[in-house]
Amino acid sequence: MAEIRLEQVNKRFKKHWVVRDFTLTVADREFVVLVGPSGCGKSTTLRMIAGLEEVTSGEISIAGRVVNQVPPKDRDIAMVFQSYALYPHMNVYKNMAFGLMNRGVPKDEINQRVKRAAEILGISDLLHRRPAQLSGGQRQRVAMGRAIVRDPQAFLFDEPLSNLDAKLRVQMRAELAKLHERLQSTIVYVTHDQIEAMTLAHRIVVMKDGKIMQVGRPLEVYERPANRFVAGFIGSPS
Ligand code: ADP
Ligand code: MG
Repeated sequence: MAEIRLEQVNKRFKKHWVVRDFTLTVADREFVVLVGPSGCGKSTTLRMIAGLEEVTSGEISIAGRVVNQVPPKDRDIAMVFQSYALYPHMNVYKNMAFGLMNRGVPKDEINQRVKRAAEILGISDLLHRRPAQLSGGQRQRVAMGRAIVRDPQAFLFDEPLSNLDAKLRVQMRAELAKLHERLQSTIVYVTHDQIEAMTLAHRIVVMKDGKIMQVGRPLEVYERPANRFVAGFIGSPS
């Protein structure tokens, strides 16, 4: 059960509170999207779940275990960023295998996991290419592949499509939905794009200035926005 819980989580950078009273439970296998304008605290929230930022106060638990003091590598979650940060001198296979090699996973198992991930992502033909020989969409798939081979309890995505052109973004949305179906894992996904949020999410969390404005199913939020900000941001009919 890879449930993720945030209980009264707050984050302050110096005197600036960037996440406030954030309480949310993401159910096992749920696809939750945090959405809101730039600077509202989405990435910080995700980074706290990943353990890349400490919480100022509050509690985060993953699969029933409080992880406030657990380092990122022991949280059993994988994060995919907007910048792919692939190793330019390694081919696709090696880019995906590298993390597992460092962990001492046996070679056969690495091979199996990379092949499976490549198959799921439709990049089996590209394993011998270097990042420079790939399109933006293909690179983003490799970045996802690196996360999938780890077989984590949950995935965190931070604006993974925002570097892609509009057409590819739409195509990748559909693929992400399929990916979730295939992986059956818990996903917390961050975007500033309300359409992306509406199409992908089981539930969306609309944020503003570090605070949750509304949580609900996309259609619910669209039809019954909690306030003017949500209505404006989501584009609800008035
Ligand atoms: P979003 O991802 O929604 O665009 P962020 O979580 O990146 O928002 O940032 C929320 C706020 O926190 C912003 O005002 C940002 O400038 C500030 N912030 C983020 N990271 C840091 C940091 N390391 N130090 C100081 N302020 C930060
Ligand atoms: Mg961000």
